[in-house]
Amino acid sequence: MEALKNRLLKVARTYYRTVEEVLRNFNKVSSFELLVSTIISQNTSWRNVEKAIANLKSRGLLSIERILGVDVKELEEALRVAGLYKVKALRIRELAGRLKAWGSSLDELISLNMDEARAKLMELPAVGYKTADVLLAFKASAPVIPVDTHIERIAKRLGIVKRGSRYEEVRQALEGFVPHDERGLFHLALIEFGRKICKSRRPACSVCPLRGLCPSRTS
Ligand code: SF4
Repeated sequence: MEALKNRLLKVARTYYRTVEEVLRNFNKVSSFELLVSTIISQNTSWRNVEKAIANLKSRGLLSIERILGVDVKELEEALRVAGLYKVKALRIRELAGRLKAWGSSLDELISLNMDEARAKLMELPAVGYKTADVLLAFKASAPVIPVDTHIERIAKRLGIVKRGSRYEEVRQALEGFVPHDERGLFHLALIEFGRKICKSRRPACSVCPLRGLCPSRTS
């Protein structure tokens, strides 16, 4: 298993240059924009998220006050490109309402100690483990690896965790061998690896650099 983990880390590192720009973009946006983007990203591509965010920006709708001040139809229109737009519009509006009622900013919240910040974030509507960890990793530089569907699939196929493992088990198993200062890049790199090689359907095992060590290889 140690050999497999070392190999996975090496493979992930080959993607770091490819994903550095995504990391830079995450650094540039506000915590609120990243949170809204993560909600929009459910069941759609990152390209569509970017279009929806551009629509929100062009309508001046990326602030809590404005989101709460407009008719929900206007929000829906801006989000239409990302699918499930009615649900997403409602979630974002509810989120804005909760943040306003809270009275403290998202940045104050994520600057709490990591466990406290995660618990508080998960009290927000539409914020689960992954969304909370994305914010902590990319806006609070917390040493955490957010686990999305690609990452979970790869960890299970490689046997790093059992098939039935839940979010926290996957996260902790990966954090056990990835250095603190690489965890954000590792998260992005594994997503890229999952999109290009270890795909959900028909993984490209014949060209996978992990095939010699992978118990799930198909060819
Ligand atoms: S060998 Fe196949 S299943 Fe295993 S990690 Fe590579 S692509 Fe995924």
